[in-house]
Amino acid sequence: MSQLQDKFGRRFHYLRMSVTDVCNFKCTYCLPDGYRPDGRSKFLALSEIENLVAAFSEVGTQKIRITGGEPTLRKDFTDIIRAVADNDKIKTIATTTNGYRLEKHAKEWYDAGLRRINVSVDSLDPKMFYQITGENKFDEVMRGIDAALEAGFERVKINAVLLKGFNDKDLPRFLHWIKHTPIDLRFIELMETGLGRDYFQAHHLAGADIKSQLVEQGWSYDQPAADDGPAQNFSHEDHKGRIGLIMPYEKNFCASCNRLRVSANGKLHLCLFTENGVDLRDLLQHESQRAELVERLHGQLAQKSETHFLHDGITGVTQHLASIGG
Ligand code: SAM
Ligand code: SF4
Repeated sequence: MSQLQDKFGRRFHYLRMSVTDVCNFKCTYCLPDGYRPDGRSKFLALSEIENLVAAFSEVGTQKIRITGGEPTLRKDFTDIIRAVADNDKIKTIATTTNGYRLEKHAKEWYDAGLRRINVSVDSLDPKMFYQITGENKFDEVMRGIDAALEAGFERVKINAVLLKGFNDKDLPRFLHWIKHTPIDLRFIELMETGLGRDYFQAHHLAGADIKSQLVEQGWSYDQPAADDGPAQNFSHEDHKGRIGLIMPYEKNFCASCNRLRVSANGKLHLCLFTENGVDLRDLLQHESQRAELVERLHGQLAQKSETHFLHDGITGVTQHLASIGG
């Protein structure tokens, strides 16, 4: 079966698969009031996940990131990793987590087949960490990162959302940390969601500001490999870690888009900020539906837009990124 490709020639070999909307943190930019169950959501079952992964792997998906909400809150999280790892067309299994359960389970997840892990750490100052996430869990999360480094993950990345008025003074601390620690830091520009314009306007900090500070301090831009996603990467000979900037408001951000998203209730999202997800769940019930599912995927890709419309303040249906996996 042919690879998923859109009419702009972009190929999609990377799936971000959300497995739950539930989260135990209250990040001010994501779920400021915490997760509120709607009483209706039933997240994809393991068998549905297996069918989903099988169909995507037939159309060229080689990398899957398991995300959420907080994916590690699923009791069958290790089984999910194992199910993805059992599919030998999937070459890379990654997850994005708030790190809450990492210390205890890093090794178990590694043994199940997980190879890359992104941990969200918005500040290295425990008080600021608490202010941003609503959880006093800084030490646990840092111990989790140590456990991940020890478990042998091929890549440990740290995600930090840039937030004016919160962590905008933290750059020196982050740089100090990665001087001797082989970690890839990713600074993510705050994206406007359905949560509201006011928060966005008060706290959005342009990645370009960080970029100029890095260049001033001798960091150099690494040319992207052909298959790299939209991060701009920087390295420095005196630092073991590297830095990536994710700047969705920069020109051409969408040109290197190589990812698709499926929400925890089985909707395909062609972009983080599209109006509607397309339901796949009716075709996830049995292996025999695979050909039809693959056909639906190809049909949907033909409709993917060239870019998002965030510049016009159009944020789509994405109320917060916990509902679609970030
Ligand atoms: N709970 C996990 C975590 O926080 O790592 C995974 C899900 S979370 C939605 C995925 C990523 O999206 C996190 O790194 C988070 O910081 C980021 N994120 C959430 N809301 C965002 C926003 N409005 N703008 C930019 N990044 C956001
Ligand atoms: Fe939870 Fe992640 Fe959203 Fe924070 S960013 S509230 S940890 S889903």
